[in-house]
Amino acid sequence: MTDRETATGVLGLVQAYVNTVDLQDGPDELKDPNTLSAWLVARGLLEAGTRADEADLRHAVAVREAIRGVIGANSGAAVYPVDVATLNGAVVASHVRVRFASDGKARLEPEAAGMDGALGRIVAAVFVAMGEEGWARLKTCDSHKCRWVFYDSSRNHSSRWCKMASCGNREKARRFRERTKAN
Ligand SMILES: [Zn+2]
Repeated sequence: MTDRETATGVLGLVQAYVNTVDLQDGPDELKDPNTLSAWLVARGLLEAGTRADEADLRHAVAVREAIRGVIGANSGAAVYPVDVATLNGAVVASHVRVRFASDGKARLEPEAAGMDGALGRIVAAVFVAMGEEGWARLKTCDSHKCRWVFYDSSRNHSSRWCKMASCGNREKARRFRERTKAN
């Protein structure tokens, strides 16, 4: 998917988490508790051997969609209170706080272990990403069925669709049909 722009570093982690599902065409990488824990362990966000259950999966997906919601604000969409509440809930459950490590540098870390801790690391990554220069370039695709998160590397930050060849053209065709119907 080289034509879907990808961010790096902490922005890339946030983008990768939200893009674990392709809402339009599938698949969903977080389709069951095992794939969820595998995804988190592979990225060092969850202790190896931690088992997730269905409630963890629902929570992780809710957090994922809440992050998609706040990224949508970069594309001009409204932020829903339910998304804000979901993210604050993940912060509270994980007890994320500032901790100075042995190298003298401060980080946001969860006190909670297990799945709550893993989701705490995700929301901490969102917080750090929001302080990055590229945050405003992280956008959700304007196609309501797609909402894929892409990194807008266009010079004037004007990209609206994840992939002009599909979403952009599909959206233009839809608007053309609506216009011609109205006449
Ligand atoms: Zn799209």
